[in-house]
Amino acid sequence: REWCVALPKVELHAHLNGSVRNSTLLELAKELGDKGVIVFEDVKDVIMKNDRSLPECFRLFDLFHILTTDHDTVTRIAKEVVGDFAAENVVYLEIRTTPKNNEAKGMTKRSYMNAVVKGLKSVEDVDVVLFDSNLRNDETPMSDLSGDTKRKKIYVRLLLSIDRRETTSAALDTVNLAMEMKDQGVIGIDLSGNPVVGEWETYLPALEHAKDLGIPTTIHCGEVPNRKEIQAMLDFCPQRLGHVCCLDDEEWKKLKSSMIPVEICLTSNVMTGGAPSLELHHFADLYNAKHPLSICTDDSGLFSTSLSNEYYLVASTFGLSKTELFRLAQGAVEFVFADDEVKKSLRAVFERAAAETL
Ligand code: 5GP
Repeated sequence: REWCVALPKVELHAHLNGSVRNSTLLELAKELGDKGVIVFEDVKDVIMKNDRSLPECFRLFDLFHILTTDHDTVTRIAKEVVGDFAAENVVYLEIRTTPKNNEAKGMTKRSYMNAVVKGLKSVEDVDVVLFDSNLRNDETPMSDLSGDTKRKKIYVRLLLSIDRRETTSAALDTVNLAMEMKDQGVIGIDLSGNPVVGEWETYLPALEHAKDLGIPTTIHCGEVPNRKEIQAMLDFCPQRLGHVCCLDDEEWKKLKSSMIPVEICLTSNVMTGGAPSLELHHFADLYNAKHPLSICTDDSGLFSTSLSNEYYLVASTFGLSKTELFRLAQGAVEFVFADDEVKKSLRAVFERAAAETL
């Protein structure tokens, strides 16, 4: 387990509001309880409960959003989440979040994202590289990331999520916002939200718009066995796919020949029923087929996990050696949405770590 913590890691699939510490959620719930907005005792049990079925997760997200959606809290959780990932030696993090309009709080999608960016910039104990010009000291190359320098460094990039409850026009707003915030570390678009809600045709114009603008996309695919939608998603050919749980034989074939990299979220899939067990998770099939993969947390807070733990689960469940685990972590560098300069630096980080630990 300690080896998995020390291993440099790349996290490509982490939802901001799913990655909030339980202690923070409880503190926020207590504050809102004191104000009489919610009943703390009821909420406390929900936060601490371990059963996380798919429908329950989405009810929980509605609760999390009540707790976290004001500008200051969004800034706080963004700061904490980055700190937590950096603390376990994540060297590159793509954090995704759904920009939210909330009139009652004077919040627009843009002001929500500004609050997120403010949080990323206010991380204190770690050097956050949010965009290239943000390198505090050009003398210190990123290849020092996992080295013996005292301060940790982490590259952070943002993906804007389209929630499946949104209209076409709201989804288009999100893509346009991503374009506007390119110089603030925003580099991609995600489609997520309750998989039994909404229609592919609603989001397609926004995803096509992203494609036209040259913005990479990643799509939550096959969390439920919706044949028509899985086909359409594979045909769309996004830069990455999340989950890919409920594919039939034909769809597996299509996925494998597409070579679209897959974000694998073991604990999440087992907890929400997308995979029957860790042992029977489709990771093994894709790994053996040498399909491009990256190990991810999805919602480390909600599922009480961490990226190090997910790597540990891969090793203990599927019997990967340290070298194989290292190569798996290293391989994820090739699927980041950041530019070639960042990739080059990350490759150097892993080369150095390989010399030290393998
Ligand atoms: P946020 O975007 O508010 O920062 O993070 C929480 C949101 O991410 C949820 O409301 C949901 O839309 C999305 N999300 C988090 N985990 C999952 C998941 O496992 N599957 C899907 N489809 N969406 C998720």
